[in-house]
Amino acid sequence: MNTAALTPEETRILAAGPSQQAELAAHVWPSTATLDDGALTLAGINVAELVEQHGTPSFIIDEQHFRDRARLFRDSFRHAFQPLGVDVDVYYAGKSFLSVAIAKWAVEEGLRVDTCTGGELAIVERAGIPGEAVGLHGNNKSVAEISRAINGGVGRIVADSLSEIDLIAQTARSLGRTEADSVPVMVRITTGIHAGGHEFISTAREDQKFGLSLVGGQALEALKRVLSHPNLKLLGAHAHIGSQIQDSTAFELNARKMLELRKTLSTETGYLMPELDLGGGYGIAYVPEDQPIDVSKLAQTLADTMQSVAAELKTSVPRISIEPGRAIVGPTTITLYTVGTIKPVTTDEGVVRTYVSIDGGMSDNIRPALYDAKYTARLANRPGATEAVLARLVGKHCESGDIVINDLALPADIAPGDIIAVAATGAYGRSMASNYNNILKPPVITVKNGQSTVIVRRETEDDLLRLDVG
Ligand SMILES: *Cc1c(COP(=O)(O)O)cnc(C)c1O
Repeated sequence: MNTAALTPEETRILAAGPSQQAELAAHVWPSTATLDDGALTLAGINVAELVEQHGTPSFIIDEQHFRDRARLFRDSFRHAFQPLGVDVDVYYAGKSFLSVAIAKWAVEEGLRVDTCTGGELAIVERAGIPGEAVGLHGNNKSVAEISRAINGGVGRIVADSLSEIDLIAQTARSLGRTEADSVPVMVRITTGIHAGGHEFISTAREDQKFGLSLVGGQALEALKRVLSHPNLKLLGAHAHIGSQIQDSTAFELNARKMLELRKTLSTETGYLMPELDLGGGYGIAYVPEDQPIDVSKLAQTLADTMQSVAAELKTSVPRISIEPGRAIVGPTTITLYTVGTIKPVTTDEGVVRTYVSIDGGMSDNIRPALYDAKYTARLANRPGATEAVLARLVGKHCESGDIVINDLALPADIAPGDIIAVAATGAYGRSMASNYNNILKPPVITVKNGQSTVIVRRETEDDLLRLDVG
């Protein structure tokens, strides 16, 4: 092969390959993952055993790791804000991945659950989650969804537009809700701070579908609109600034803007909102080079920022809520695939790229195609050769963009029937899964203390055909 034609990235990946196969980057793989004679084990179970029992492709979630991540958020934020005399509620963002078992784990670890559709509400209802531990989001809620949330006694509905505030009030009225049993509402604000990956930008106006802008008094007008409806209770303001954020600066700026807004509203109306929600978006490590956000450090930084900004504005710090999704479930889960076709392709530059096809792809992980997202993977059932090939992990869909990992080093003796594990697939993997090519959606299996349990079963052809009424 013409190694001179390799890009710097390909050269780096190829060079790192064989050595990485011998170890696990602890910040990328689930916490109970270990190597046993070169084979991957999770919660004490060898992946070959998991595959024998459950087949591939499968999502495997490390239950203990999920519970630990949930508790880490709750404990870190409570601990950091305790000296300020305020409590923190952690809402698990269900859109990252939600099932009945997951909702129960989150609540057992002291979290609440954020939903944004009737379907997500149905799951938390099935899980028996008390209404007050549930929030409802969304930029286009239906009357049916709003009614369901109100009847279910949800802890809050986050309104996303002026017309929606009126619609929530109208729905509350039609359900007989009055000032005495008013419906708790927050208003989604855009603070002009956007973040994601390593960068953040701060703009005045925003050109996107969510929230109400601080500019031109839109946000204030919306908060006042909630106050004007006696059957709504204004719980507070909410701002979610982005996703996969790895730096605390954007969160700090966002917190400042929210405290300022709360102070302005109180000066103008005398109403001091009891709560502020700072959203989710905390970044994780997908590949060994990524630096995950340090949760306890971030909690401390945010508490310090709020305390100093509140002192500067001569106001108090309200109750806080946050909404992590990815940072709780993302690192806890891997996807197991079986290798099928292997095809070396020589590029025009003389580079040999080994296309390794697996039995899933963009239907169970759309993020690489959608966001150019990076992942890491390893041969999981055996140590493999120490020599590496430059590989591209591709799916089985009829689409050339069906790529799970663009460049990765795999052992040179990778063969059909081998098991590949992709790390950090817990968030926005199964939850964004599709039936493209009428492929069957993979199951979700939890592992804990040497036991594996199906929490979402594999789809069957009967499931598919049930919808096709001919
Ligand atoms: C997506 C979303 C979240 C969760 O984002 P993560 O990046 O998964 O933490 C939280 N709140 C709102 C309103 C969201 O839209």
